[in-house]
Amino acid sequence: MGATPAMPPIPGLAEADYLTSETLWDLTELPDDLVILGGGSIGSELGQAFARLGAKVTIVEGAPRIMPREDEDAGALVAAALEADGVTLMTGQNVSAVEGRELVLEGGARVPFGTLLVAVGRSPRTTGFGLDKLGVEIVKGGFFDVDEHLRSKSNPKVWAAGDLSGYPQFTHTASSHGSLAASNAILGLPRKVDTSAIPRVTFTHPEVAAVGVATNPAPDGIQISTVQHSHTDRATAEGQPDGFARLAMDSSGKIVGATIVGPRAGESLGEITLAVAKGLKTRDLAG
Ligand SMILES: Cc1cc2nc3c(=O)[nH]c(=O)nc-3n(C[C@H](O)[C@H](O)[C@H](O)COP(=O)(O)OP(=O)(O)OC[C@H]3O[C@@H](n4cnc5c(N)ncnc54)[C@H](O)[C@@H]3O)c2cc1C
Repeated sequence: MGATPAMPPIPGLAEADYLTSETLWDLTELPDDLVILGGGSIGSELGQAFARLGAKVTIVEGAPRIMPREDEDAGALVAAALEADGVTLMTGQNVSAVEGRELVLEGGARVPFGTLLVAVGRSPRTTGFGLDKLGVEIVKGGFFDVDEHLRSKSNPKVWAAGDLSGYPQFTHTASSHGSLAASNAILGLPRKVDTSAIPRVTFTHPEVAAVGVATNPAPDGIQISTVQHSHTDRATAEGQPDGFARLAMDSSGKIVGATIVGPRAGESLGEITLAVAKGLKTRDLAG
């Protein structure tokens, strides 16, 4: 149950000696040459942490930039911070094979590694404990076939919560879904999952916190307003001008999304998450 580190079908990877975000914690010595496959939140957080501990770190990412699911400017700020910490970023580089202690990139270049960390996402753990015997269908991506009440569509006596449900894979989502699924199952309530205001934070330095609709690129019809931290006295006084707060508004002026980059961005996002959840406008915040 829950999820396990995803393993991309790269020839040679299964036989390679690799770590994941679950096994990395067993290290007793600092790896001197750590190559991380995947530049999402987990790869970026761990890459920066290990670089700051003194390891030589390289992140290999297939997308054109790290943190590809976040605001482009946020990704760029984190990329600059990682490089300032000494991390080598190899973006737009797909790994086609692992041979010995080398990654083979499409195009033929090779990236040697002392220690390899695979951080390419999390796969739901839905096999191996008899769900098939309950008649629960597993849908695309290996997820439970739940409806918006978190109830299995193929066996209505089964509910699911957390990483295996197909909803965003976060601690707070799992916790709120656990309560929702339990009350629906036991009390027969019709509570539905609401995905409009699920906050997320990447704990790099600077932190990246986001909620709701994308802010860059933003969907059509969404208005964007950005304040650079370099334009605020507090950030200037604290010598931390790298960052911004960016709000996304719909045509009626309601706040529908945000990205904040900077110190304690995760804490700052709470207020904006409330605004998104309650349909508040910028004038409500300003007031
Ligand atoms: C490195 C890393 C960083 C993360 N950072 C964040 C973060 O900053 N913020 C955030 O919100 N989320 C973060 N997450 C995601 C978060 O940990 C998950 O979304 C959350 O734990 C999901 O909860 P869950 O209950 O669905 O699954 P889990 O927490 O994985 O719990 C599932 C449990 O089921 C047990 N289990 C599995 N199979 C069986 C079985 N057959 N029988 C009995 N028990 C079984 C497992 O041992 C496990 O204890 C991170 C995850 C990782 C890996």
